[in-house]
Amino acid sequence: MATFKDFRNDVKPNWCPGCGDFSIQAAIQRAVANVGLEPEELALISGIGCSGRISGYINTYGFHGVHGRSLPIAQGVKMANRELTVIASGGDGDGFAIGMGHTIHAFKRNVDMTYIVMDNQIYGLTKGQTSPTSALGFKTKSTPKGSIEKSVSPVELALTAGATFVAQSFSNDLKGLTSLIEQATQHKGFAFINVFSPCVTFNKVNTYDWFKQNLTKLDDLEDYDATDLDVAKRVVHEHNGLVMGLIYQDDSRPDYQSQIDGYAENGLTFADLEMNEETFGKL
Ligand code: SF4
Ligand code: MG
Repeated sequence: MATFKDFRNDVKPNWCPGCGDFSIQAAIQRAVANVGLEPEELALISGIGCSGRISGYINTYGFHGVHGRSLPIAQGVKMANRELTVIASGGDGDGFAIGMGHTIHAFKRNVDMTYIVMDNQIYGLTKGQTSPTSALGFKTKSTPKGSIEKSVSPVELALTAGATFVAQSFSNDLKGLTSLIEQATQHKGFAFINVFSPCVTFNKVNTYDWFKQNLTKLDDLEDYDATDLDVAKRVVHEHNGLVMGLIYQDDSRPDYQSQIDGYAENGLTFADLEMNEETFGKL
C-alpha cells in the first residue's frame, strides 16, 4: 500500500520559503495515501498561479491547465475515467476571477471530485496585486489607495451555489487540512475546500499570525451542525467567512454522473458519443 512518500517526486518546488502552499502539497500527499490510493489512481489538475505549479510536485497523473480552466478539465477527466480520484487545485485569482463562471457551475453540477483553492488573498505569481478575495481597503500595487471593492467569500459562494461539501482550512493546520482532504475525496459529489495559504512575500496583512488570531474553529462552537445549510450560512456570515473546519455536507444529493442513464454500469461509452453526435447532427 502506498504511503505519502510514494506521492513525492524529485521536482523541487520553487515556492518562496515559508509559502503556505508547501503545507497543502504535504496535506494532499498524506490524505490520498491515508485513504488508500495509489499514485496511478489519482489525477491532479491545476490552474495558473504560484499554486498552479502543484500538479508538477506530486507523483501522480498531473495536468497544468490554462488560467481559470482547471475545473472543466478536471470534470472531463472524471467523466472520462470514473476510476480515477480527481483533485483540481488553483489560487483565488484562478478560481474566483477568470475561472469564476466554471466555479459556480461546478458547485451546482456536483461532479464527484475535489476542488482545493489555495487562497492567499493576492496575486502572488505576478508579484502582488489585489485579488477577488482581498479585503476592502487592501493596499497593493494595483490598489495603492486601498481596494474599493468588497471581497468574495468563497465558502459563502459555495453554500449559496449548491455545493454538497464545503470546508475551509489553513496551511498552518496540517492535521486538520489532511483530515478534510480525506473526507473530501471520499465524499460522493463535488467537495470544495478553501485553504488560507499565506503569501509570505507579497501579502504582509494576511499572515500566519493574522489567521491564528482571526480564524474560529467550528469544532469549538457548541452544537455546530454541518448538515444544516441554514446554520452553516448563518455561522459563516456571522464570522465574516473566517471559520475553519467542515462547514457543510449533504450526502443525500446524487452526484452528476449517477444521474446519467447507464453511466453507473458502463461509464461513458463510444455508443454514447455516437448518440450525441447524431443528436447534435440533427440540430
Ligand atoms: Fe507563495 Fe507568495 Fe512566493 Fe507565490 S509569491 S510562492 S504565493 S509566497
Ligand atoms: Mg492568489
